[in-house]
Amino acid sequence: MSTTASTTPPIRTVMSPGRYVQGKGALARLGEFVAQIGTAPLIIADDFVWGIAEDQVSASFTAADLRIERVGFGRFATATAVDALVEKIKETGTDVVVAVGGGSAIDAAKSAGHLAGIRWVSVPTVASTDAPTSALAVIYTEEGEFVEYRFFPRNPDLVLIDTQFVANAPVAFLVAGIGDALATWLEARATAASNSTTMAGGQPTQTGTALAKLSWEIIHENAFSALDAVRDGVVTPALENLVEANTLLSGLGFESGGLAAAHAIHNGLTAAPQTHGLSHGQKVNIGSLTQLVLEGAPRAEIEDFIEFTTRVGLPTTLTEIGLTVEDETELRAIAELATVPTETIHNMPFAVTVDDVVSALKSIERLSRSVRADRGLAEPVKHVAKH
Ligand SMILES: [Zn+2]
Repeated sequence: MSTTASTTPPIRTVMSPGRYVQGKGALARLGEFVAQIGTAPLIIADDFVWGIAEDQVSASFTAADLRIERVGFGRFATATAVDALVEKIKETGTDVVVAVGGGSAIDAAKSAGHLAGIRWVSVPTVASTDAPTSALAVIYTEEGEFVEYRFFPRNPDLVLIDTQFVANAPVAFLVAGIGDALATWLEARATAASNSTTMAGGQPTQTGTALAKLSWEIIHENAFSALDAVRDGVVTPALENLVEANTLLSGLGFESGGLAAAHAIHNGLTAAPQTHGLSHGQKVNIGSLTQLVLEGAPRAEIEDFIEFTTRVGLPTTLTEIGLTVEDETELRAIAELATVPTETIHNMPFAVTVDDVVSALKSIERLSRSVRADRGLAEPVKHVAKH
């Protein structure tokens, strides 16, 4: 990302959604906000999500005189799924596509909305990634392997998240969102240090970098209270704070602050079948820890990161993502994919090679086990890949 072929002077740029709405019961106002954007919406939601959201979405659309037209969605935002949505948008005369659900449905809606030349809206029902606010989508294969980033000229016109839905969802989603959001500051910090190009297509702004840091601070202050709130199915101020950090601040922070090694290593990990079934945030956390090792971060900082994320419930060892230090072939494949020339790992303020990534990945097993033993934390449990 640092190699924008251009002779024009560099710019700084920030991108953001048109409006961000968050709160308990916010879904009841979806129709009111969508009606400001378009008149013929198409809702993208899988059957499970529609089962829990239909009543409120339908009531709010009816109140706003909007039609209720819904299409289902599979597991991943694949190129085929996106093309099918574009057809559906054209068939139904849609002028705004509204994705209700997780990151993949939202990414598919953005991609399809862009290709069809219409507006798009993100309605995340969980706070498991920071994708909903951004102007980019990640395209995967049917098996969940990373294919490409797709960049769009605009962010969603609206991002609306109902925190009661976040509270009702399994706590694993919020755990994953914390993993994704913690990487934001580590990667923005590295991108600022190297003055590399961000996902927004310019040099980092102080705004993007500061929002990334604020996200990190809010998560450290609120994570455990917020996780307890979700275990109890209740919305508290700590949960509201955490959802804003995971969704809005991390989203603005990664897009306008920059990605670096953590997400590149995440993308690399998708090449190892052993990691399938893990969430984005779980794999990103391995990327964050590996980035800290690559940076030669102070020992205390690495230890605190391992303790905090282990307590949150995120993986910090190869064991927990189904790998071992002996899996030379897989580790090399991961490192090769993580270091392809287009990857954000080259935003680090130093050169990173395949060998560097293999060594850093191997090192986290013993490192985390020793920190966990020193700090009285449980031993890692082996992940078994699900397909
Ligand atoms: Zn992410």
